[in-house]
Amino acid sequence: MSVHKNKNTSILLIYTGGTIGMIKNSETGALEAFDFQHLLMHVPDLKNLDCSISSIQFDPPMDSSAMGPDSWQKIVKVIAENYSLYDGFVVLHGTDTMAFTASALSFMLENLNKPVILTGSQLPIGMLRTDGKENLVTAIEIAAAKENDMPVVPEVCIFFENDLLRGNRTSKTNADNFNAFHSYNYPVLAHAGISINYDTVQIYHPVSRKPLKPHYLLDRNIAILKLFPGISPQVIESILNIPGLKGVVMETFGSGNAPSDDWFLAMLKEAVDRGLVIVNVTQCRAGSVEMHRYETGYKLLEAGVVSGYDSTTECAVTKLMFLFGHGLTPNEVKEHMNCSLIGEVTIPENIYH
Ligand code: ASP
Repeated sequence: MSVHKNKNTSILLIYTGGTIGMIKNSETGALEAFDFQHLLMHVPDLKNLDCSISSIQFDPPMDSSAMGPDSWQKIVKVIAENYSLYDGFVVLHGTDTMAFTASALSFMLENLNKPVILTGSQLPIGMLRTDGKENLVTAIEIAAAKENDMPVVPEVCIFFENDLLRGNRTSKTNADNFNAFHSYNYPVLAHAGISINYDTVQIYHPVSRKPLKPHYLLDRNIAILKLFPGISPQVIESILNIPGLKGVVMETFGSGNAPSDDWFLAMLKEAVDRGLVIVNVTQCRAGSVEMHRYETGYKLLEAGVVSGYDSTTECAVTKLMFLFGHGLTPNEVKEHMNCSLIGEVTIPENIYH
């Protein structure tokens, strides 16, 4: 369905679901997914944008807490099939797992040179105080922005409450506020005030103009192991011995520290020796893992744990799914975890891991 035609820039809106398009069930009071027409009805201003907008919707629209690799593949397929027809893509998505989807899409859309902007809202678009209208309109403006006929933001991003953030650097950090997303380890790519100010130095620009290469293979045999003081050997052991498990994102303390108990280190080493890739990310919102900094971190390094540097958990999980999905060996996966594939991680000049 076209909202506006005959304008030079064309945007495809992909409505997957989420609060932005929901409506209150009058009997239960619960928010339920509603169709895209309802959403557009509440934003007549879309007609005034200087671009033509077409849309496609997931049927039925999904709460993002029910989304995962199958839905990411669906989004990639829609983008790949429509890539040559549009200048940019806006993905309307529930906020709960938007950061996982954005990270996954950044790996799955190789050679992307058009904007893919994810957005949603904390309040449904039909509500008086909704944040959905601003988010939607500005996300479309960003996806349509061009300079010298080239897209200003040719990467996967999240736009939310005035800020444009790199998708694979972002986490949902607030369940209530309109300001729900943060990218603590990478600067904001654009800020929308009276005008939209882009930080062109920080925006990723593809080095080659190769055709888009969509990827669909993902391996779900990944787990997150969040450490806490007093964690028991049974918990560690049962996670590390999940049948078929290939990768673990281990959330450690501070700059990558963990207990130095012999049983703990021995379990990690035994798991690494049989081919499990264990990636160390910090539980802190900002900052990086530096395993050489303290003895406790150093012991993890000796056990064969690899650094996730300043990666978000969302990014480390989806990167492992992507790498194992493509049949890489544990050693090849480790090598790739030590590289930035698409600006998702900051690797220090002198790698100690
Ligand atoms: N549960 C909703 C979702 O993620 C929340 C939201 O959209 O903000 O789909």
